[in-house]
Amino acid sequence: MSSDLSAPVWAQRTAERVVATHGDGPHVVVTGISPSGIIHNLREVLVAEAVANALKARGLEVRFVFHADTIDPLRRVAPGVPESFEAYFGHSLSRIPDPEGCHASYAEHFLVPFEESLREMGMDIEVLRSHELYESGVYTGVTREALENTAALRRILQEISGREMAEDWSPYQPRASSGNLTGNRVAEHLPDENKVVFVDRDGNEGVADYSKGEGKLGWRVELAARWKALGVTFEPFGKDHTSRGGSTDTADRMSREVFHYPVPGRYEYEWNYIKGQGAMSSSKGIVLLPEDLLRILPPDALRRMMLGRDPARAIELDLGEGFPRFVDEYNAETGGTDVPFNHLVLVAQTAGDDAEAAGMLRRGGYEAAARDLASLSQELSYARNWARERAPESLRLRVLDPDESAEAAAGLDEEQRTYLSAVAEKLSPDMDGEAVQEMLYSTAIGREIKPKKAFAAVYTVLLGKKSGPKAGPFVAGLPDGIVRERFLASLV
Ligand SMILES: [Zn+2]
Repeated sequence: MSSDLSAPVWAQRTAERVVATHGDGPHVVVTGISPSGIIHNLREVLVAEAVANALKARGLEVRFVFHADTIDPLRRVAPGVPESFEAYFGHSLSRIPDPEGCHASYAEHFLVPFEESLREMGMDIEVLRSHELYESGVYTGVTREALENTAALRRILQEISGREMAEDWSPYQPRASSGNLTGNRVAEHLPDENKVVFVDRDGNEGVADYSKGEGKLGWRVELAARWKALGVTFEPFGKDHTSRGGSTDTADRMSREVFHYPVPGRYEYEWNYIKGQGAMSSSKGIVLLPEDLLRILPPDALRRMMLGRDPARAIELDLGEGFPRFVDEYNAETGGTDVPFNHLVLVAQTAGDDAEAAGMLRRGGYEAAARDLASLSQELSYARNWARERAPESLRLRVLDPDESAEAAAGLDEEQRTYLSAVAEKLSPDMDGEAVQEMLYSTAIGREIKPKKAFAAVYTVLLGKKSGPKAGPFVAGLPDGIVRERFLASLV
């Protein structure tokens, strides 16, 4: 499964601008994320993917890179991780143990599931780990350049932040023997040996070889250095980076004035909010994981949902009540199934298996959907997962088993019981939804029982609720025999 190359308009315009300033390439589209906690920022990756696809659609060569900041120091402990991990503050994520012991490191624990989701989405992306880039020498040249231009970099940081930087500030963070990357002071640069001499927090002198990943550039400098080291021509940024005085302001100047590298094309995206919860944030635990979302919708629908019409605008994701409408609109636009999602949810929850579901859909008039069993089975699984995990209570249905049904029926009065038994005698498997609806209604009128009370009896013995989906099609769709059995059991 691969994504559609026909890019949305905003991505095409962005690609045009990138080509105008950076030429025909080859292009390098980068998205960078720190695996310091659960990675949820799918929107950023999708923005980058859309622009990469728009460049590819112009026939250009594109390398699409996910830069995982695995060498970054741990700054705060992610929700769910033991507080004892504070002992690793300042250590590279790639060198801290996995809090749950299931992966090679802290970084891998959060990176691997995200990587798997990207693969599941059919994304054509290269995942690079920054500690490996440093270790293999990809950053050696830019690190030397940064160290040689320490004064200029320091000035840029001061001018943009308005803060006085320490006299001995260095763009490079060597790793002390303790594993800590922070708080060490660079004393001397040995450019011919790719080394720095430093003094750690305890006053011990050490030497770090920057061609072997024995340290890293500070993150603001690294942003600009990365553009040059990887030849980046496009990178999206969230609005927090692009605010005045933000990291892109310093990186832009460092790139032009120090690294002499043209600033890559940019797209500023806004946040995704989750209805009822607020802005997505891993530190607050407000996250939607791609792997969970792929349980309720296909990859391209997920792309559409996360990006919205224009990712420069914030959108609120509604995975509850508003979700069926999104799915229906998506299917209408892309030529997907014509079965309304709410109906599919009903069928998925009541049918015993896929063949039975196909039968219900056929009786409901959805012949085409019933015929394509392979895609029906996938649609049903999305609907079933949504119903179980995210549907509002009103749409959550399960047909009661005989014992539960008998128990629920105990709350009915005599009038309702005899109504159900009368209905049971009239039901026949060849009645369609309309016919059943009509029969349920006329039987109520004929027995002078209020329709609302009569229908409540039907829902009570089938679903354990006083109301539910339109009764006629619902009852007609249920497997033959089940309804009669439940209705007659109420008499016992
Ligand atoms: Zn793990």
